[in-house]
Amino acid sequence: MTIIDGKATAATIKQEIAAEVAEMVANGMKRPHLAAILVGHDGGSETYVRNKVLACEACGFDSTLIRFEDDVTEEELLTCINGLNENEDIDGFIVQLPLPAHISEQKVIEAIDYRKDVDGFHPVNVGRMNIGLPCYLSATPKGIIELLRRYNIPTSGKHCVVLGRSNIVGKPMASLMMMKNFGDATVTVCHSRTANLKEICRNADILIAAIGRPEFVTAEMVKPGAAVIDVGTTRVPDTSRPKGFRLCGDVKFDEVAPLCSFISPVPGGVGPMTICMLMLNTLAAAKHEYYPAE
Ligand code: NAP
Repeated sequence: MTIIDGKATAATIKQEIAAEVAEMVANGMKRPHLAAILVGHDGGSETYVRNKVLACEACGFDSTLIRFEDDVTEEELLTCINGLNENEDIDGFIVQLPLPAHISEQKVIEAIDYRKDVDGFHPVNVGRMNIGLPCYLSATPKGIIELLRRYNIPTSGKHCVVLGRSNIVGKPMASLMMMKNFGDATVTVCHSRTANLKEICRNADILIAAIGRPEFVTAEMVKPGAAVIDVGTTRVPDTSRPKGFRLCGDVKFDEVAPLCSFISPVPGGVGPMTICMLMLNTLAAAKHEYYPAE
């Protein structure tokens, strides 16, 4: 059994990006510039955005953090987004989700210029992904594809089961695993209404769990020799930790790991790769790799 080291893989990719940025700057190009909008003070969002800013530094990018309080109006936020759309110095930007209930996340996502949508959430990028056109891929599924590739995990013709059907993880993950140029696998998607979920999981050569239910996947749900990717990150109370919680995956790691050919841990598996893929998307934006400069 091999434990997939997302932290080490992400560190390698960040070094690769930093080397490319150093070369770009040496050739007179500007540094890639990522902006992030953060609304409110949610602990998880604060951590994610801080880690994104740190990743920018590691990659040699410029970064700008724009903060709003919880009571920001939708109009103020949309005005800020328009400004970033028009700001030629910003190559790409993200709006950290979730947003307060009085703001429409869909309206916000659709207000972002798809050419700067490095999260890959805009319908143009989602649509282009689904028909195999160049575009920004949603960072978490893109990171998982990268891990499968770098660990030489066979996917073509295999049965991949994806647990979860969210717009940011489950659905794009299933699409990429199905597509010829990515997973080339036979894909089954399970959700909260799926009947015979355990039997379906037991049939998976590759099992990708993205449901946010701590330790949901147990040994009896895993085929011996399967590759298991754990996307889940739920904060569970833990008084022995300085922060009072620990991150828990969707897979019962201790009993599932001995059965697997490959398994990604939580933390240290998919999480570090997600931020790293945001950096790759920003680099692509700076190079106008998917959408030509005007
Ligand atoms: P989400 O929007 O809440 O979607 C959860 C999905 O899981 C839904 O499709 C839901 O089904 C399904 N589900 C929930 N309970 C289930 C059950 N008992 N059996 C089968 N399916 C069930 O979550 P998400 O945004 O996709 O995130 C999923 C997990 O991944 C969370 O723990 C999140 O924190 C984590 N995550 C990690 C990263 C990372 O970088 N590591 C990035 C993104 C998300 P229905 O559609 O039927 O409700």
